[in-house]
Amino acid sequence: MALPPLIADLRRRLGPKNVVHAPSELAVYDCDAFTVDRHRPDAVVFPHSTAQVVAAVETCSKHEVPIISRGSGTGLAGGCTPTKGGVVVMLTRMNHILELSLPDRLAVVEAGVPNIQLARHLAGTGYQYAPDPSSQGASTLGGNVATNAGGPHTLKDGVTVHHVLGIEAVLADGSILQVGPVEDPAVLDLQAVLCGSEGTLGIITKVWLRLTRAAENHRALRAAFTSVDDATATVSRIIAAGIIPAAMELMDRGILGAVEEAFHFGFPPDAGAILIIELDGPAVGLEEKQRQMVELCRSNGACEVLEAQTAKERETLWKCRKLSVGAVGRLSNSYMIQDGVVPRTRLPHILRRIAEIARHHQVRIVNVAHAGDGNVHPILLFDERDRDEVRRALAAGRELLDECIACGGSVTAEHGIGIEKIEFMERLFAPADLRAMRRLREAFDPHGRMNPGKLLPA
Ligand SMILES: Cc1cc2nc3c(=O)[nH]c(=O)nc-3n(C[C@H](O)[C@H](O)[C@H](O)COP(=O)(O)OP(=O)(O)OC[C@H]3O[C@@H](n4cnc5c(N)ncnc54)[C@H](O)[C@@H]3O)c2cc1C
Repeated sequence: MALPPLIADLRRRLGPKNVVHAPSELAVYDCDAFTVDRHRPDAVVFPHSTAQVVAAVETCSKHEVPIISRGSGTGLAGGCTPTKGGVVVMLTRMNHILELSLPDRLAVVEAGVPNIQLARHLAGTGYQYAPDPSSQGASTLGGNVATNAGGPHTLKDGVTVHHVLGIEAVLADGSILQVGPVEDPAVLDLQAVLCGSEGTLGIITKVWLRLTRAAENHRALRAAFTSVDDATATVSRIIAAGIIPAAMELMDRGILGAVEEAFHFGFPPDAGAILIIELDGPAVGLEEKQRQMVELCRSNGACEVLEAQTAKERETLWKCRKLSVGAVGRLSNSYMIQDGVVPRTRLPHILRRIAEIARHHQVRIVNVAHAGDGNVHPILLFDERDRDEVRRALAAGRELLDECIACGGSVTAEHGIGIEKIEFMERLFAPADLRAMRRLREAFDPHGRMNPGKLLPA
């Protein structure tokens, strides 16, 4: 049987082994980690070079079909879900670190390099690429740029946009745009525009990343509190005391139970929440800051403070946070990780409201949070086979995001808008703001082919 013209053209331009179109294989690409909305693409292509990305884009233009960029598919907002069909462009075979120049503090990478691959490459050099999303073991640097990813250590170091020096991207007309890596304050900052554009402006193929000195000294502690209120209030008191930790992460009782059952870290049984706090910097003064930190935790109701004495103990403290989402599988067969942000001082309020919303919708919610940033990640547990549970979970998710807006925060701190949060854009932005964003998008992609239906409401 003759192949559909789109598939035949893709195979001709990219080579048959770089094109997937069998329905059973396409099922794998029907969603990202936001699993409640699934749509199959018409084809998936696996380019190995920017030239092959151009070929894919030109073919999609010819056949007037949507183009959806995809890294590792760890996105939590449906950003790479092909809601209108079309061709998914998988960047994961463009996975080479092209250049590492420590004197220039620069790494040049293809978009499909997993974040962890660069971190491992840099280990022992004294340098780091700072943004470390909790998904760094899988997510790609291109995906991190496209979502402007954050992570535990972005409290002190800033999010992805602060570490991108240059971007190469293939635009909807097949042309190749290169912005940076030379910093020129006199021109429009297109790097920043592309960061967080979720595949709607172009396909990112190469990135120039800023490297920074890795801290030589660290202090880490785990503070357990009987109540979430005490833990969250402590977060803003630490910042108010003038200390900016490298990271300040929160886990509540619900998630601690799952982690303890799976990995036995020895959390106090009456812990309502724990904070994992890390300080880094020059050795001088670090001890004193750690002492202040311990004191602040204790005076704010910590029932246990455990200080890591060795690098191994510090690693173990981090492990319990990094393994937390993996342990959620013990609690439920399906879950949705929400992402909202509030002013830090509103953390006690938002966590109380999350508990109320959970009760109201009869949905179990457990919490992790990049608490230092005011970034909450309520994890809503449900059974995907039960339509009513899915409906209640989605309703609870919407209500808690509305509450974040009411607190003066936003509906995403780091996971992006995708399809999941598009309905909130009109509540977050004034019509004039949205019009300006739409015009910008049209300037890059006049025919609306790049990831249609994402980020901006129609
Ligand atoms: C367990 C878990 C923990 C997480 N923790 C964090 C965290 O701490 N911080 C955080 O920020 N996020 C986190 N995330 C969310 C997710 O990992 C990030 O959004 C990540 O940056 C997505 O990278 P990816 O390669 O998987 O991209 P994908 O999921 O494949 O795509 C995400 C979006 O980017 C677009 N895109 C991907 N690659 C490109 C490209 N080359 N060019 C143009 N557009 C592209 C896609 O179209 C889509 O809109 C977490 C997710 C999970 C599952």
